[in-house]
Amino acid sequence: MLQAEIKSLLREDISILIKTTNSGKHYLYDCGEASLLTVKEIQSLSAVFISHTHIDHFSNFDGIFRHQIGSGEKIVICGPKNIHHQIESRLKSYTWNLVDENAIEYEIREIVSEEEINVYRIRPPYWKPELVTTQNFLFEDEYVNVDFAILDHKTDSIAYLFKEKDSVTFNENGSGFKKGKWIGELKAAFENDQSEKEIEIEGTVYKAFDLFRLLTKNAGYRLGVIMDHAVCESNYDKLKTVFKRADMVYIETFYKDEDQEFAKINYHSFASASGKIMKDCQVKESVPIHFSRRYTENDVTEIETAFYKAFSETN
Ligand SMILES: [Zn+2]
Ligand SMILES: [Zn+2]
Repeated sequence: MLQAEIKSLLREDISILIKTTNSGKHYLYDCGEASLLTVKEIQSLSAVFISHTHIDHFSNFDGIFRHQIGSGEKIVICGPKNIHHQIESRLKSYTWNLVDENAIEYEIREIVSEEEINVYRIRPPYWKPELVTTQNFLFEDEYVNVDFAILDHKTDSIAYLFKEKDSVTFNENGSGFKKGKWIGELKAAFENDQSEKEIEIEGTVYKAFDLFRLLTKNAGYRLGVIMDHAVCESNYDKLKTVFKRADMVYIETFYKDEDQEFAKINYHSFASASGKIMKDCQVKESVPIHFSRRYTENDVTEIETAFYKAFSETN
């Protein structure tokens, strides 16, 4: 299961922690000011995903690397075009003469297009980005695959979809066999498509195929976050492709419906537009996030009401 925790208070900028149930490693989505983000959580990050580098999404990046330097770990940072230059500038604005080159390594993945991801490596004390490779996928580890859409916000704004890997469970009740190491072998045969593999249980040899009925495939949870974006057809076409039927999606809803003129000028979304596109994407659950800082709690309630009305409306 994947879980998102919003670490910013009302009127703070945005930062979201994403956790997987089976791992102590977490992901961070954007680096806005976030009073609720702890040092321990920062030190548990294996990857940071940046939607875009407007100051409200990137101002706390220093606060993040402050607690990572010295860990000796490799941390991935994904972000839009030129993210490697912006990270380089931020890191170079400090003095690093006392820091060893093994204190940390960042692997920056710059999203040039849907199919082109430039991978850079950057280390102390000189922080000079070095192009390592160009690849056609963004991020995959043991637990998740991350898909994305490049949205128009008068600059690229990356919306990310975290797709937990499918899992296989053993149906203990229907088995009739004693548990043993054969269950692991059977799961491996299933995952690797080896239906002819021989599995020995209590002295008898079976074909894996005949035992697959004892397994259930569980679709992985899909959790998305869509940050700043203009209300326009080209953005919506991309969202409908990537986020279709996702389990949970958090979506930028910067303005109230009555302020939608500002949304247009600033390439942002507003309450009923965000609700409607989430409905059109047929996502199971959705939560509006990232409201203009001039809004009060009552304004936010108004946004949420209009959002959920549009999200649940039947045509
Ligand atoms: Zn923005
Ligand atoms: Zn923003």
